[in-house]
Amino acid sequence: MAKKQFKAESKRLLDLMINSIYTHKEIFLRELISNASDAIDKIYYKTLSDDTLTFNKEDYYIRLEINKNDRILKITDTGIGMTKEELESNLGTIAKSGSLAFKNENEAKDGVDIIGQFGVGFYSAFMVAEKVAVRSKAFGANEAFMWESNGTDGYTVEPCEKTDTGTEITLKIKADADDVSYSEYLDSYALSHLVKKYSDFIKYPIKMLMEKRKLKDGSDSEYETYFEDETLNSMVPIWRKNKNELTKEDYDNFYTEKRYGFEKPLKAIHASVDGVASYNTILYIPKRAPYDFYTKEFEKGLELYSNGVLIMNKCADLLPDYFSFVQGLVDSPDLSLNISREMLQHDRQLQFIAKKIRDKIKSELLNLLKNDRETYVEFFNQFGKTLKFGVYSDFGAHKDILQDLLMFYSSKEDKLITLDEYVSKMAEDQKYIYYVCGESIDRVSKLPQTERVKDRGYEILYCTDEVDEFALQMLMRYKDKEFKSVSSGDLGLDDETNTKENEELFAENKELFQEIKNILGDAVKEVKASLRLKSHPVCLSSGGGLSIEMEKVLRQMPNNDGMKAEKILEINANHAVFDSLKSAYENDKDTFSLYVKLLYNQAMLIEGLPIDDPVSFTNDICKLMK
Ligand code: ADP
Repeated sequence: MAKKQFKAESKRLLDLMINSIYTHKEIFLRELISNASDAIDKIYYKTLSDDTLTFNKEDYYIRLEINKNDRILKITDTGIGMTKEELESNLGTIAKSGSLAFKNENEAKDGVDIIGQFGVGFYSAFMVAEKVAVRSKAFGANEAFMWESNGTDGYTVEPCEKTDTGTEITLKIKADADDVSYSEYLDSYALSHLVKKYSDFIKYPIKMLMEKRKLKDGSDSEYETYFEDETLNSMVPIWRKNKNELTKEDYDNFYTEKRYGFEKPLKAIHASVDGVASYNTILYIPKRAPYDFYTKEFEKGLELYSNGVLIMNKCADLLPDYFSFVQGLVDSPDLSLNISREMLQHDRQLQFIAKKIRDKIKSELLNLLKNDRETYVEFFNQFGKTLKFGVYSDFGAHKDILQDLLMFYSSKEDKLITLDEYVSKMAEDQKYIYYVCGESIDRVSKLPQTERVKDRGYEILYCTDEVDEFALQMLMRYKDKEFKSVSSGDLGLDDETNTKENEELFAENKELFQEIKNILGDAVKEVKASLRLKSHPVCLSSGGGLSIEMEKVLRQMPNNDGMKAEKILEINANHAVFDSLKSAYENDKDTFSLYVKLLYNQAMLIEGLPIDDPVSFTNDICKLMK
């Protein structure tokens, strides 16, 4: 019989498969099994629409058979089968899937990516087989046909013997090579392991005769082998089960089975949705961030299934970066098995699912916050930083989604509170949401800048993550209340007597302040009498948009370009130290200059900024002591 040639596109894909250096060749089994499962689905749908047919569950299955000596692996299904024409057109051409279009762009990578991410259907059999024969009898047909090929020089189709409807695929497994042991595809245990791994949730039983061992009759040391028919897959995936049937333990077990994490998850979310796209999902919020979570190596994503068949391990498009800690899977019958990563990104159904999932995660987190605050705080301590980065990233595009999930440490309550809680407790005359940034709660709570705000009885949010101030500046306001750093120039305290008093003080001591500025030069932008200080003599505040805390963060970045906050030295004119300063100014210019430098360096230290010349600073202190 004359050999027919593959269509050009198909031939390229075949070459790719035959010469594949891809290490996960094992996915060929997943591909063939899901084709078999689809073929059974087709019969099932036929019976639904035709009253003369019945679907007897027991008649539909997939079977694996091995013959080690001949190096044969057979995959048989009782599905719809293929006619002669279908064998030709389905297996001679590959036109439908987007994998090839995808491949063009990735040729250089030897196809590793397409194979790994999507599989490429039937042709993947050529990754492990030197010859493939497909014997098939179509539903309702009288005769069967066999398609056969060794991949390279075309294929043949000829009539064959086959009594039952369905398809039988015979793979002649390649001989072992130096670096690849193809023989594992002839080992029943290895195969059953692969079925569990990739096809556990296929709806129809995947059967195989498993080789077993038992003690010989009457012996306590001699064994004999025998074969037992086993169904390898569990068939019903946990995510398709009814929530009411499942316990917390089931979800916990599934989490560890899937190796999403080693300890129990903090929370499981299970949802089934119908709509533009239908899907089932199980999502987990881990208890702890994985060790590489805050590194570049970390890869976010959910497992993606199409009707119980795994199509992608980590589908990144399903999770926004700010929820990258979420683990789990999505199963949707509306997604095509062979969809490419590229097409997936533009897939409307996938976008719909991603948005739904995002909203679900958010609402579940809000529920947790409302109903189990302790657990939420535990969550926030692990992943709050990611949420805050999310507020800051993409120019604040996600802030509306995230703002209600944020927590900050409260000066009044000594615990984390939400912005909503802050705002609902604000005093009537309070205009702003106050915050202070620094290294630790202890340190910021002692900052002199906080005194006046606290005196007013206003609450302050203590921010100790580097990203905090960047996030707050991006938020700008919450429920119409603006954020205000206690270190910013104007505190908005509406303190008229105080302002007036201050203006007078400043006018009185104008020359003195000017002289201080002269001594400090460019180190500060301005020197003024402070409105905010009470018990401390000095502090620094910032004038422009960049705060002192932000300067500190930027300073640590590898490519910082020396951006500095505009610093204002504020002096407490009601402090005893100011009197000493004044008298020195009038009587002893050297001492005055010494005091000024000391006060400035103190202010730097309080802010946690490095002082320019620590040696002369300590010398200055010694001078005082002498
Ligand atoms: P895909 O599954 O993405 O369509 P494949 O290359 O795996 O791509 O299969 C091509 C086509 O061959 C299928 O769409 C199906 O029509 C047919 N086919 C493959 N395997 C079987 C099978 N076991 N039974 C019936 N038809 C099959």
